[in-house]
Amino acid sequence: MSRAALRFSLLLLAALGRAGADSEHDQEHGDEDSPHSREKGPGHSHWSYEDREHWGVDYKDCAGTMQSPINIDTAKTIFSPQLRPIQISGYSLPANEKLKLRNNGHTVVLELPNSLAITGGYAQQYRAVQLHLHWGSPLGPGSEHTVNGHRFPAEIHVVHYNTKYDNVQKAMVQPDGLAVLGAFLEVGPMENPYYQEILQHLYKIRQEGKEVSVPGFNIAGLLPANLKLYFHYNGSLTTPPCYQTVKWTVFNQTILLSYNQMSMLVTSLTNDDSKPLQNNYRMVQDLHGRRVLASFQTTLFSVKQLSSDSDGSAAAEHSSSSFHAGDVLAVLFGVLFAVTALAFMLYICKHRSQNTRLDSPTKSKVIYTAATTEATA
Ligand SMILES: [Zn+2]
Repeated sequence: MSRAALRFSLLLLAALGRAGADSEHDQEHGDEDSPHSREKGPGHSHWSYEDREHWGVDYKDCAGTMQSPINIDTAKTIFSPQLRPIQISGYSLPANEKLKLRNNGHTVVLELPNSLAITGGYAQQYRAVQLHLHWGSPLGPGSEHTVNGHRFPAEIHVVHYNTKYDNVQKAMVQPDGLAVLGAFLEVGPMENPYYQEILQHLYKIRQEGKEVSVPGFNIAGLLPANLKLYFHYNGSLTTPPCYQTVKWTVFNQTILLSYNQMSMLVTSLTNDDSKPLQNNYRMVQDLHGRRVLASFQTTLFSVKQLSSDSDGSAAAEHSSSSFHAGDVLAVLFGVLFAVTALAFMLYICKHRSQNTRLDSPTKSKVIYTAATTEATA
């Protein structure tokens, strides 16, 4: 019985961990908003992901000390109760409000009206500009942030700028100019109807520079349902010019897409060389002493990392903290079941001895049965 209890509690833990699993995020691509992103002129960046180790040569911020993305080591995050739930407004758009969806050669970008805003969770107000995605290939994952060394299949970034600046171009060079909401995408059993609003159009913008007009929908559906659990740190755009002006929010809860949807995302677009647009993520950057805050206590959620880690060394690395939470709950459930089982057995024994006393001495060797119980009770 206690073994079953242990097993049950472990399953429960796994489920809990899964629900609260992952966290991370990131975002960037400030240049994607620029009117030059379709051209190859002087205003357009010639950078590529193949060349990502050398971005710092042409864009010196890319070699800075507050760069993104980062690996989020949950054991080292600092629980900050003052980090209130992220609140968003204006995210539900009517179908008659058309949005531009564009392949800029680096990612797919959905332009957003500035009526969308972050109204809570940040000290200041931010308006949305665009959202975009980062992904891997059919062979591997492609999130930008990682959690305890784990890279997720894909990642969404919703880019906002501080309303105290006139526009995103002015904001993106200010220390408090940008806020990016990031979340991880994973494969689940169901088709995600919100992501379908984007994915179903990708085949029309296969080539770099192509764009299509898509009907408005509830953009909030692209983010996790739980906006209370997140990580927060100061970082940068994850693409050139790598401005170090982003206050990052990386949500703990992941978003699920069907396998087919994830395949569409990973295989539909091509880059400026007409090669598949894949693995459009930057390697994680050194923290250089930066602290990563968490809006929640991470230890209870670290178990999930164990189940989702594909990489054995990463799993081993954080297995100690994972085990900590797992052990506590497992022991708790085990003790609970053991006590229940003991009480039940004591009750049976007591009941049985009562029956024995009621029975005549000649029946004392008769094997106990339910029928006997009924007859004597
Ligand atoms: Zn990004």
